[in-house]
Amino acid sequence: VFEAALLADNQRRASAVRARFEHARITALNLIGAPGAGKTALLVATILALSDRACTVIEGDQATDNDAKRIAATGCRVVQVNTGAGCHLDAEMIAGALGRLEPNDGSLLFVENVGNLVCPALFDLGEAAKVVVMSVTEGDDKPLKYPHVFRAASAMVLNKVDLVPHLEVDPAQLVANALRVNPALAVFSLSATRGLGLEPWCGWLRARARAAA
Ligand code: MG
Ligand code: ZN
Repeated sequence: VFEAALLADNQRRASAVRARFEHARITALNLIGAPGAGKTALLVATILALSDRACTVIEGDQATDNDAKRIAATGCRVVQVNTGAGCHLDAEMIAGALGRLEPNDGSLLFVENVGNLVCPALFDLGEAAKVVVMSVTEGDDKPLKYPHVFRAASAMVLNKVDLVPHLEVDPAQLVANALRVNPALAVFSLSATRGLGLEPWCGWLRARARAAA
């Protein structure tokens, strides 16, 4: 009962955040993935590749502003949210961060959720889409073990594909498992740190932003 009330309260706040985004034609993406999947590295590579677009970032971590510093080094505006013991961002935290971030009308806003494949799937942040970020090092069975986030997501970024020759993992099986859970998932295989395969992903982001304009 407590969890249901908590989620209902979050949903109300998320709807208000979403209305604010839609009014300002802001395209918000909620990036969810395990610690070490490469969410921050993906954001750094993406921001640099989308240099012609206005981007801002909300960084969620339990502690430190390490990732916000990595984002800020690209020249992108960023606000760090530390959740302390909390294992996910909620819509109230996003509303608070927006007051500090003041994203421009028509911009792309990336939210990097706390590293966790489980409960971030339950909390609507008012985003246009959830994106699950996975590294090939996590193994090909993760979409079957953690189906909720793959079902809630519109896209999956499969990161660190340059490491496949060193691993036992079968990336085709991983993608097949993800599509079994969510046949509508858009899949982007890339290496953020090597700059491989970024174009289709950036094309998808541009299309999302055009749809909001
Ligand atoms: Mg990070
Ligand atoms: Zn949580």
